[in-house]
Amino acid sequence: MVAAVRRAAERGHTVRPVGSGWSDSALVLTGDVHLDCSALTGIVAVGAETVRVRAGASITSVQAALAAHGRMLPLVTHAPAATVAGAVATGTHGGSTQWGSLSALVTGSRLVDGGGRLRTADDSELDGLRVGLGVLGVLTEVTLRTVPAVEGEIREEIAHAHPEVLAPGGPLDTSPWTSFELHLPSGEGLLRRVGPPLDREPEPVGGGPVEALGRVATRIGHAASTQWSAQRSRPVPRFDEATTGLPYDLLRDPHPARAEFTEWAVPREALDTALRELGAATAAQDVEIKRPIEVRTGPAETGWLHPAHGRPTAWIAVRASRGETQGRLFRLVGSVLEGMGGRPHWGGRHDWTAADVALAYPRLTDFLALRERIDPDRRFTGDHLDALLGNATS
Ligand SMILES: Cc1cc2nc3c(=O)[nH]c(=O)nc-3n(C[C@H](O)[C@H](O)[C@H](O)COP(=O)(O)OP(=O)(O)OC[C@H]3O[C@@H](n4cnc5c(N)ncnc54)[C@H](O)[C@@H]3O)c2cc1C
Repeated sequence: MVAAVRRAAERGHTVRPVGSGWSDSALVLTGDVHLDCSALTGIVAVGAETVRVRAGASITSVQAALAAHGRMLPLVTHAPAATVAGAVATGTHGGSTQWGSLSALVTGSRLVDGGGRLRTADDSELDGLRVGLGVLGVLTEVTLRTVPAVEGEIREEIAHAHPEVLAPGGPLDTSPWTSFELHLPSGEGLLRRVGPPLDREPEPVGGGPVEALGRVATRIGHAASTQWSAQRSRPVPRFDEATTGLPYDLLRDPHPARAEFTEWAVPREALDTALRELGAATAAQDVEIKRPIEVRTGPAETGWLHPAHGRPTAWIAVRASRGETQGRLFRLVGSVLEGMGGRPHWGGRHDWTAADVALAYPRLTDFLALRERIDPDRRFTGDHLDALLGNATS
């Protein structure tokens, strides 16, 4: 990594570090140097409550290595191939109000700076490095907090986007991990929650009738569904058995294909209104959202450029199959959710510029000052990053 950065510097090239390349935005695009970090793999050391990994290790490989030690990362992402560095750099999260994103687990890191020097981050820099977008050097090692690997049980429920289901403190927040996939504008969907194993039937939430689909399936929030479109929902999957296992195995994406996506982090309390507005806007403009929307929740994050910075967050992801032209849909989603105070997931599609970033991120100045220290010559940039962060050197 050191040699590659120095060589690029000698030739006057910029460098974009690349992990698995799973981001759907233009973060890694460049006509200059792509620095492929995905072969920088392996576990350096497993401590009592931390793990030190090479930055290109996939999240899946780290979980597998930790399982042998009875530990895990408390992260249930749908991007198992993502590298640790790539996931940290974009603030990749996993539907947990308890644990937050992978970047929130970072306790230390080593990196190659813009001059090709290896350095160890000091604690005061960590909140910048948590979501570094690949402009704060090339991460070579990352130390992450771990937790005991405890099995959970998944509960899968047909649910309706009733205000009681979406409200802060409701079912999206009370299990350690949740994911709610729903169709708009009908508002019907599948709520998946992972928590401690249950030995009793779940209680219905939101005042709706219980429809038993096996030990862990219920129908929730249905009674109040009339405030949503009366349009009939599409069938949702049915699950007949409770399943126990490690959380990251249980809450896998039911649609694991690589997709084009836009995802927005809105203030937690705005979720109900945001979905309502999104349903109304797409219906009014006759734009169809073909795949289910995924809603997850998370805590306030400390990362200076984390989309959940400073506020409990509801994440709303809209996906489309690769190759479908989604410009109109994604622009509509962006304009509605931006209007609700949303900030885009850095790895998804969005059209933010430096002016938007400056308004949305109160610690941007600290981030840019750190960038100035690590990379005063702007070795780590590209057109997309210039548009987002500006490219002035002092
Ligand atoms: C099917 C699918 C499912 C997904 N599920 C989720 C999800 O559940 N939750 C979620 O939050 N996101 C999700 N994402 C988004 C995904 O987690 C992020 O885009 C993540 O950044 C991908 O990691 P990567 O290794 O592919 O990084 P890349 O896309 O290769 O790079 C992302 C950023 O990291 C930087 N980077 C890479 N390596 C380094 C390094 N060594 N040092 C410094 N910077 C580096 C790059 O420069 C770039 O800015 C999903 C994406 C897909 C396609």
